[in-house]
Amino acid sequence: MSRAIQAVRGMNDLLPDTLALWQRVERRAGEVLQAYGYREIRLPLLEKTELYVRSIGQVTDIVEKEMYTFEDRNGESLSLRPEGTAGCVRAGIENGLLHNQIQRLWYAGPMFRHERPQRGRYRQFHQIGVEAFGMPGPELDAELILMSARLWRSLEVRDVALQLNSLGTPTCRARYRELLVGYLEEHRTVLDEDSLRRLHTNPLRVLDSKNPALQGIIERAPSLLDHLDPESAGHFARLRTLLDDAGVQYAVNPRLVRGLDYYTRTVFEWVSGALGAQATICAGGRYDGLVEQLGGRTTPAAGFALGMERLVELLAQQEPVACSGQLQIYMVLLGGPAQRHGALIAERLRDDGVSVECDAAGGSLKSQLRRADRSGAAYAVLIGDAELAAGLVSIKSLRTDEAQEQIAEGSLAQMLKRKLAC
Ligand code: ATP
Ligand code: MG
Repeated sequence: MSRAIQAVRGMNDLLPDTLALWQRVERRAGEVLQAYGYREIRLPLLEKTELYVRSIGQVTDIVEKEMYTFEDRNGESLSLRPEGTAGCVRAGIENGLLHNQIQRLWYAGPMFRHERPQRGRYRQFHQIGVEAFGMPGPELDAELILMSARLWRSLEVRDVALQLNSLGTPTCRARYRELLVGYLEEHRTVLDEDSLRRLHTNPLRVLDSKNPALQGIIERAPSLLDHLDPESAGHFARLRTLLDDAGVQYAVNPRLVRGLDYYTRTVFEWVSGALGAQATICAGGRYDGLVEQLGGRTTPAAGFALGMERLVELLAQQEPVACSGQLQIYMVLLGGPAQRHGALIAERLRDDGVSVECDAAGGSLKSQLRRADRSGAAYAVLIGDAELAAGLVSIKSLRTDEAQEQIAEGSLAQMLKRKLAC
């Protein structure tokens, strides 16, 4: 036997047992997004590298070191998407969806970042992303937050908390940046290598450092919130009022800067205490400058992305037993004639909307019942030679101690529908 080939590091297979939870999240997210008028958009996994350089920013972690970038056969530089916002804005501009319009869009799918794989951090991971265009006010920011909060309620996610900040406008951020660089220069000697590198390229990111040795300096750093322009301060105050009205709890975190360059004003993260170091399950904010930066007409916009792997892990921790699939009936078929006839009964049941798996591996009653049990079905329908000759079938509950019953084949569909209450 030759050596088996393994998956690319940090890229996971999602096996059927785990997918039950994934599908529940996807279903609930679909319902919640629809309840707020968001519509799905599907976008390519590959874009021109230039798109990410211009949107996410040249000196961000993603563009500097995390992208899967390669030249295609024409020598064009392409990158696997590390996030969805840039592609969504590109598509919006290209298809004329943004100018003078209101759009509420969502997408779901894999993203790719060449990071060090660890719990909650993978090289292929999945996001559900939401982007809304054409609405400048804090009402939209509040809508996005309320929508995510509704999704947590719908999924019964516990242990998740909202952090909120405002990054102001590029102008007030530039002024604050000078102040911060001055402050950090004074403490240059204690900065680590990463922070020294960021000091002049992207100093706000120093505030995001996880290095425990820097936490004191970061705590005492001047706060951007104290240097907001009046409009941004008003926007933030109004957002807080809207969240208070809706009873959404949050903590203002002046150190929350987010890893991408394109944010303006509101930024937020939903963080869980149950996930270890990779604690953020959902992050987003406003990015009023991005559409113009990518060649469109100035369009206010805001959005968020939730990390499926982290959310699913949180749900799996809360509820260790994965919810089973949807299978209702397992057909136990003893002998060739029963197999042949059973296949037809199964087809008729499926016509009636019942989900049925037929045993196709044969063997004894005992081994088929073992498989029936493992299938997760609620009931087994048993057919052997004797039943077949008499026009009967047996129904056995696989999950309760209900007595086994023998009934006429003609009444099977009705009986099962009653039992399954469908
Ligand atoms: P982090 O600080 O954890 O690296 P980020 O700020 O880079 O996160 P975003 O670009 O805001 O992440 O992506 C939104 C969400 O996608 C994150 O909050 C997280 O839940 C998820 N996510 C991001 N990168 C990864 C990854 N490599 N593996 C799994 N999930 C991820
Ligand atoms: Mg990251």
